[in-house]
Amino acid sequence: MKVLVINCGSSSLKYQVLDMDGEILMAKGLVERIGLDGSVIKHEKVGRDKFVNETPMKDHKEAIKQVLDAIVDQDHGVLKSMAEIGAVGHRVVHAGEKYARSVMITDDVIKALEECVELAPLHNPPNLLGIAACKELMPDIPMIGVFDTAFHQTMPPESYIYAIPYDYYTKYCIRRYGFHGTSHKYVAQRASEILNVNLDDLKIITCHLGNGASLSAIKRGKCIDTSMGFTPLEGLVMGTRCGDLDPAIVSYIREKENLPFGKVNEILNKKSGVLGISGVSSDFRDLEDAAAEGNERAQLALKVFSHRVRFYIGAYIAEMNGVDAIVFTAGLGENSINMRDIICNDLGNLGIKLDLVKNRIRGKEAIISRDDSPVKVILIPTNEELMIARDTVDIVTGKMPK
Ligand code: AMP
Repeated sequence: MKVLVINCGSSSLKYQVLDMDGEILMAKGLVERIGLDGSVIKHEKVGRDKFVNETPMKDHKEAIKQVLDAIVDQDHGVLKSMAEIGAVGHRVVHAGEKYARSVMITDDVIKALEECVELAPLHNPPNLLGIAACKELMPDIPMIGVFDTAFHQTMPPESYIYAIPYDYYTKYCIRRYGFHGTSHKYVAQRASEILNVNLDDLKIITCHLGNGASLSAIKRGKCIDTSMGFTPLEGLVMGTRCGDLDPAIVSYIREKENLPFGKVNEILNKKSGVLGISGVSSDFRDLEDAAAEGNERAQLALKVFSHRVRFYIGAYIAEMNGVDAIVFTAGLGENSINMRDIICNDLGNLGIKLDLVKNRIRGKEAIISRDDSPVKVILIPTNEELMIARDTVDIVTGKMPK
């Protein structure tokens, strides 16, 4: 079956076409500046050619029309007609407590996702626009929703309940949800395959370290804790997000700087993290360069970042009473030799022994711990699109319930 995977942002859209008979990526692309001047589609027929087409796209429907045209284009396309698409898999960020797995998108599902808009005001609205546009353009093709929050729904209450009046949980659904679930799930499954050990017999800590970053504790294939919370602001220090903070700081900054609440929120989301500490950049490549040149605040930012990752690794080892594998993934986790080295440094008493030679690798699956390391450290490039396509096929073919 050929599957189209759609990941809609507010003004951008990423897509892939996969032939799931052999899990082969056929085409992928990116539409940018939807609804703005200079809308553009960048399409790649994988391994063959790329094309860029700047053409006005006033909304998501027009963007998806361009995607479909590109997919069936005589020169750059990979399908003869749209009828070859067996199903569409949509990445949706927030499904609240409603869905603990992927589902077929029905009117009821759309209603439930609309109810989650308040919980993910930046993400769910464009996700829903993408679904609506696809339903209009491909009314007969099944659509599947794959949710970032779903994998974390197995967390026990002690992991997701905040110590605030319980009414806020029941009235406003304030609890820890967690994000990046599709990525955590994918790399945990791959770790089990690479180690040739059943997921049921493994305790894994997955470190998704990108611009956004989160860790998950995965015991017997189920997420039992994760570092992001009610929103993706909690947990690790990130590119521009503060991560864990004493909540009293919010009102303190607001008073001292005489700021409206919205502004404080913006500072914590966009001006904090390693950018805020270093004043250099949110991009870890820039930070590593600056740190190497002696920039002390860049050095400090990297130390604070790695300190928090180590802090969570320690916490999750305690929660699971041990760990069998630590997985690094996403932009920084897959590519930064230096950061993996700092994070794993001097953890021998916990059974974590990184092999400094094997660690000299980027973007490829590899076990990077020493042969005598009781805990395996594994580098696994994430592949959320493949995970979305797998769930899509499983639901359409009845392997997974609708
Ligand atoms: P992602 O959000 O997964 O796309 O990851 C983006 C982050 O990965 C950026 O902050 C980059 O700084 C970081 N990154 C990508 N490549 C490298 C690299 N070679 N060394 C260090 N950081 C990298």
